[in-house]
Amino acid sequence: MLHQSRGKAGAMQTSPTALIEKKRDGGEHSSSEIRQLIELFLSGALTDYQMSAWLMATYLRGLSDDEMVALTRAMLESGSVLTLPRVRAPKIDKHSTGGVGDKISLALAPLVASVGVAVPMISGRGLGHTGGTLDKLEAIPGYDTRISAKRFERQVERIGVAIMGQTAEIAPADRRIYALRDVTGTVACRPLIVASILSKKLAAGLDGLVLDVKVGRGAFMKTSRSAAALADSLVRVAAHLGTPAVARLTAMETPLGTTIGNALEVHETIAILRGEGPKDTTELTLELGAEMLVLAGTSANLKEARACLQRALDSGAGLERFAQLIEHQGGDARVVERPALLPHTKQRVVVEASRRGFVREIDPLALAQVALALGAGRRRAEDRVDPAVGVELVATRGERVSRGQPLAVLHLRKSNDEAAKATRAAFTLGDEAPRGRRLMGRRFASE
Ligand code: URA
Repeated sequence: MLHQSRGKAGAMQTSPTALIEKKRDGGEHSSSEIRQLIELFLSGALTDYQMSAWLMATYLRGLSDDEMVALTRAMLESGSVLTLPRVRAPKIDKHSTGGVGDKISLALAPLVASVGVAVPMISGRGLGHTGGTLDKLEAIPGYDTRISAKRFERQVERIGVAIMGQTAEIAPADRRIYALRDVTGTVACRPLIVASILSKKLAAGLDGLVLDVKVGRGAFMKTSRSAAALADSLVRVAAHLGTPAVARLTAMETPLGTTIGNALEVHETIAILRGEGPKDTTELTLELGAEMLVLAGTSANLKEARACLQRALDSGAGLERFAQLIEHQGGDARVVERPALLPHTKQRVVVEASRRGFVREIDPLALAQVALALGAGRRRAEDRVDPAVGVELVATRGERVSRGQPLAVLHLRKSNDEAAKATRAAFTLGDEAPRGRRLMGRRFASE
């Protein structure tokens, strides 16, 4: 029996303790109970320690589909939802569940905008081992990620793309709940991840959402099974809330591209948009971009959409839009022509192969830890990141190297023998070439 009383509007209110007990005992909440949970939390009537208890109960007991939809809706509606009425073009965004060296959003957003699809992107900072899009953009001198919702809309209307951080008005429930999950061991929980991602993303008033669900040792989801379950839930819940979505599983077994670190990743973005980027990051940009165009209805199929994006790469239209994006958000757009203007370190350390052989594996988590130790990421939300430092990969998986050949270059502020040692250890060298690995995996669509 739940403890209930009448709330402000006369509706029956369930007590915080009763809500926790119900989930603890494996019960299913009604939509109204989920809404009350979020309302009570935001009003302070349900405390941080009570929410932490509910989160742990949910981590252990899970949420049904209906509960997941209700939680996502309640978190989304805890803040403002933009409608962007002045933007005529279809509005499509992309979200990645986070990988090492994942700078795809930086190239993808302006590239897609350059072919007539609007990309209103509300993005996050890095926490833990995955870097955040905002930190990367802030490596560009002057780039302002803290723009107002009004300026965000005006910019999307004008140039089809804006990338900003989650403001205090957007999904405030997620902000507070995420902070609790981060310190209570409840981050890696599918229903909570679904509600967290979608409550932020759907706040941009989208017509469609493409999700890049990473799978592998460098991702939250280590197995294809858990990644598939997440992809399926994300797509179904988004569709239930009125936003068509497509999810792709993509491999996160080695770092993406050739750079880990904020300014270094902007360098790589410019290379991608020049058509000179690494094979994997270019492929991912084109594939996910193609999904966005098909979802927008501006291309009939993925093949046609890829060809359209390839033309925008070849003509330089994507790069030009990236320069406009930077300029509109107060950044120094000259970096597009002169990447040397980006922050950089004076010191570099080359890490060499200790034997000859094939590069069989490159451990993404180990290199993310190196980048973190150099200052490229943050251990706590309040840490400052150093935009210039990071790891540049010289050798790629499958390549044959001789003893003494460079594997990676560390961009750092002061010598760090431990970092060099850990970088060398992140490369597994062997006598035989490794088997090829597919970058793109299963596809989940809401229709
Ligand atoms: N990214 C989010 O925004 N939320 C999560 O819970 C996990 C990844």
